[in-house]
Amino acid sequence: MAHLLKKIAFAALFLCVAATSAFAQDKIRTVIIDGQNNHDWKATTPYLVKILENTGKFTVDVATTPAQGEDVSGFNVDFSKYDLVVMNYNGARWNKGMEKAFVDFIVNGGGMVAYHAGNNSFADWPAYNEMIGLGGWGGRNHDSGPYLYIDDNGNVVIDPVQEGPSGDHGPQWEFLIDNRAPEHPIMKGLPASFRHCQDELYQYQRGPAHNVTVLASAYAPKDRRGSGRSEPLVIAIPYGKGRCVTNMLGHGPDQMKSVDTIVLMQRCCEWAATGNVTIPVPDNFPGVDKPVFDNPMDK
Ligand code: ZN
Repeated sequence: MAHLLKKIAFAALFLCVAATSAFAQDKIRTVIIDGQNNHDWKATTPYLVKILENTGKFTVDVATTPAQGEDVSGFNVDFSKYDLVVMNYNGARWNKGMEKAFVDFIVNGGGMVAYHAGNNSFADWPAYNEMIGLGGWGGRNHDSGPYLYIDDNGNVVIDPVQEGPSGDHGPQWEFLIDNRAPEHPIMKGLPASFRHCQDELYQYQRGPAHNVTVLASAYAPKDRRGSGRSEPLVIAIPYGKGRCVTNMLGHGPDQMKSVDTIVLMQRCCEWAATGNVTIPVPDNFPGVDKPVFDNPMDK
């Protein structure tokens, strides 16, 4: 009898452990890469962590490179431990093995979200530019590829390569974001247009722009030192078996408290990792009038 009880206890323990590990495996294993950026990554990474963890769907590690100007050749991430990489990084190239491992990770089905200045990084790394679709600054020029914008009829236009800026924005303001792909999992259920918090509206981004799906854009008026075009701000790019999203919103910690920044980041990350989105659109998601704030650190 004691023997039987022992067996039952052991089986129960085994089931318990199995259930726990199944639960952990259900979560999206995420690594945020930071450490070099012309933005305040020390302030924004904790927001990214909290924004993802608050959904209950992600486990999040942070991999921090040596500081700007220091030797990064020893920096490595074991991508086999992850489903998703979030790039809060705009800095020096990695070692060749690490770069190859990153490309292999995406080609074999991994997810990547380039957050804000994440698409400023690595102007001279062709594979990375294919993944982000469009990038700005960092030494980019007309050789980096065409511009991409949305015309008055809502059509995506890839401009012939020409001289001009390669990444730019006017002063921050509360711009209106247009949902350009209402049937895409990331954008489904979001309003046709919604008011973003005061933020930088990236324009004149360049890149290979291959296979880009524009999910969200905003009109950059000339009287805001804008391009006079509707500029792509959230784009999805397939790469091998993987999914990449470039999300240019969210300059700093203030912007990480706005509900649309939070929800877009959560949904971009879930989709990049799984191809699906289950994170709901909250009732307090902004409409066209004004941005809505809900500090993720308070949860
Ligand atoms: Zn910025």
